[in-house]
Amino acid sequence: MTKTVDAATMRQINKKYVTEIIYNQGPLSRIDISQITGLNKATVSSLVDDLIADDFVNEIGFGTSNGGRKPVLLQLNASAGYCIGVDIQITHMTTVLTDMSGSIIYKSIRPIDCADGGLTQTELEEILIDEMNHAAVKAPPSRHSIIGAGIALPGIVNFSTGSVFYLPNIEIRDWDICGALTKHFPFPIFIDNDGNCGAWSEYRLRQINNLVFVNVGIGVGTGIVVNGQLYRGAHGIAGEFGHMTISAMGLLCACGNYGCWEQYASEQALLRYLQEEEEEVSEALKLSPNLVSVAVARAIEKPSYKRAFQVLGQYLGIGISNIVNALNPELVVIGGTMALGAEYFLPEVQSALRNRSMASNKYVPIAIAHGDTIVSGAAQLPISNTILQSPLSAT
Ligand SMILES: [Zn+2]
Repeated sequence: MTKTVDAATMRQINKKYVTEIIYNQGPLSRIDISQITGLNKATVSSLVDDLIADDFVNEIGFGTSNGGRKPVLLQLNASAGYCIGVDIQITHMTTVLTDMSGSIIYKSIRPIDCADGGLTQTELEEILIDEMNHAAVKAPPSRHSIIGAGIALPGIVNFSTGSVFYLPNIEIRDWDICGALTKHFPFPIFIDNDGNCGAWSEYRLRQINNLVFVNVGIGVGTGIVVNGQLYRGAHGIAGEFGHMTISAMGLLCACGNYGCWEQYASEQALLRYLQEEEEEVSEALKLSPNLVSVAVARAIEKPSYKRAFQVLGQYLGIGISNIVNALNPELVVIGGTMALGAEYFLPEVQSALRNRSMASNKYVPIAIAHGDTIVSGAAQLPISNTILQSPLSAT
């Protein structure tokens, strides 16, 4: 059955589409936008007038002429409004305030300990509210104030309903997080899996249409971008590669299965490899956000630390080989706390890729993520879900 759309709805859809083109590809002229979108010049001019009136778009000067008058260039107005982004990991919570262009203007890292139910859902909510309030008051005055907040979570979430299904290492299930937080803030709140936030952020920064982001921290999560869109799967839970089995009779995982990849390629695994090297790691450091940076510093002097990173790299490489054989991406990006140890584990990852992958997958480049990539992706969620017509939107 063909769906009919009324003129007002169509205008809204086109307006979001034009905003998205300027957001992703600006500065652009009205003619550029007409050529990219296929909309006629009069429609584009009228939509751009609306966006300028809304303060979302600025005219920033003239582009080069192809013979006629120089075209006026349009760019997203970075200070039209602000976004809050939060990245909840097991040992720490990162909160940022960004402008519309994604530039971070405030950042806080708060150590937390929510391993294995260390924090209740209510306690975690209270910390979230506190951190988000601190970020909100840092927003300079602007036309649209705070557009919204986005929260990246380490587990299975339903981004369209705003609820958590299961966060394995935090031991929280069935959490209506957006419902709980919305009562405390006047702006909309969105959530997504941390791997998806990282993948989207890296896609936007690199403009590579087929990539896999691997977030290596206490656990291992991934996000997949296929043909310039996040791949979510039939029920929105694609990318749980951290729980693919790499050892049939292997270690018990927090998810209940045995031999999951994250048991061999995460911070927990690094600690085990250090124990096997007979290195003592203090209890405080085990659950600290600084574990990897301390281990990297010690690896300069101690071969045992170097070896622990190398073993981790071998297992990281086994998992990445499986992923590239399945998806044949253009790029794999490694992020999360473990990225700090790249100089020690990356050669092992590349060696595993050469030995275990098929054909051109042997040579898929491996990059290290930009700093703050997950929390930046989280901060983009409100823009994607309110003013853009984006693959991240819930419809
Ligand atoms: Zn598992």
